[in-house]
Amino acid sequence: MLEKMIQSRKVLEKIQPYSPGKPIWEVQEELGLDRVIKMASNENPLGPSSKAVEAIMQQLVTLNRYPDADAVHLKQSIADKLNVAASQLIITNGADELITLLSETFLENGDEIIVPSPSFSEYDFGAHLMGANVVLAKLELDFEYDINVILDAVTDRTKIVYLCSPNNPTGTYLPKNQFEQLLNKLPDHILVVFDGAYSHYAAADDYTDGIEYIASGYPVIALQTFSKIYGLAGVRVGFGVARADIIQRILKVKEPFNVNALAQAAATAAINDDEHVRNSQIVNEKGRIQLYEALEKMNVGYSKSMSNFVLVQIGPAAKEFYEKLLAKGIIVRYGAIWGLPDYIRVSVGTLEENAEFIKEMAAILNEERTVV
Ligand SMILES: *Cc1c(COP(=O)(O)O)cnc(C)c1O
Repeated sequence: MLEKMIQSRKVLEKIQPYSPGKPIWEVQEELGLDRVIKMASNENPLGPSSKAVEAIMQQLVTLNRYPDADAVHLKQSIADKLNVAASQLIITNGADELITLLSETFLENGDEIIVPSPSFSEYDFGAHLMGANVVLAKLELDFEYDINVILDAVTDRTKIVYLCSPNNPTGTYLPKNQFEQLLNKLPDHILVVFDGAYSHYAAADDYTDGIEYIASGYPVIALQTFSKIYGLAGVRVGFGVARADIIQRILKVKEPFNVNALAQAAATAAINDDEHVRNSQIVNEKGRIQLYEALEKMNVGYSKSMSNFVLVQIGPAAKEFYEKLLAKGIIVRYGAIWGLPDYIRVSVGTLEENAEFIKEMAAILNEERTVV
């Protein structure tokens, strides 16, 4: 009876639950392991900036108060850092919230978004929530972007084009000249969402995080997060940069107190902790090389990454591999969620964590090769 009376919106049928990396405590409990290493969610293995931790501690005694609804201090710190106006910023409860807000602001039932494939699943979530349709723009076989595939996917109903660069889960990026060409060829009614969650890891000369195009008036919104290089995934804070007129429209759907006080304080401290960012970049770069070299030695394929994770090509045994690593206390991501059943994605850890991953990989490969 009840089932008949209480109905959710039809569009929810299309929504798949988000599939997160397994948390450390869960693997510890399930497998009774002490040592568990999480290399599954592209978190900063060095932890948060100590300045952010200090800022949170100072904030604790004022938790009886509502947070600043406009996140004025954080906005100003980001504005100064990026050389944009505070009116060009929106602060959100993680970049994930911004994707939802963008969807609520710009997507009508039956509209279309274009998303690279494979890429981050939250873009689809936002579209489905609003009854919009997802049009996939497949990356090349080597996971590089082809802007013509994106342009060919454009219709009158296209409202948003998502770009993720460096792209999650492939680690590939969209070179600046191609991004510029794409911007110039896209019709004016389309908002380009440039997801730069991993921009701080991208070292190529021809990389852009998209922000420089905003000043020239392009309809681009750059997404940034404090969850990755800043090491603050646990407090949930991200932001968007765009023309002030675009920001104003998104602010209409934002809940007043979307970013909590601890998150605001932590992010304000973290945005100016250049040393923590620099150290994180160095550890990541060294770790990536460490992983590449080991994978090459083991004769395992991988794709070169501009980010803090590596997509590793295991072959048909990838799922088993993922499970065996898990049983040894190493959490990575299995690629099937992105339609990549032959792959695992491993986040770059500390040098010690990478070494453990490599050791366990080698052990599993050894077992398999002796069995055959
Ligand atoms: C992690 C991630 C985000 C941001 O996540 P939040 O924690 O919600 O800020 C956004 N885009 C991509 C591609 C990511 O991998």
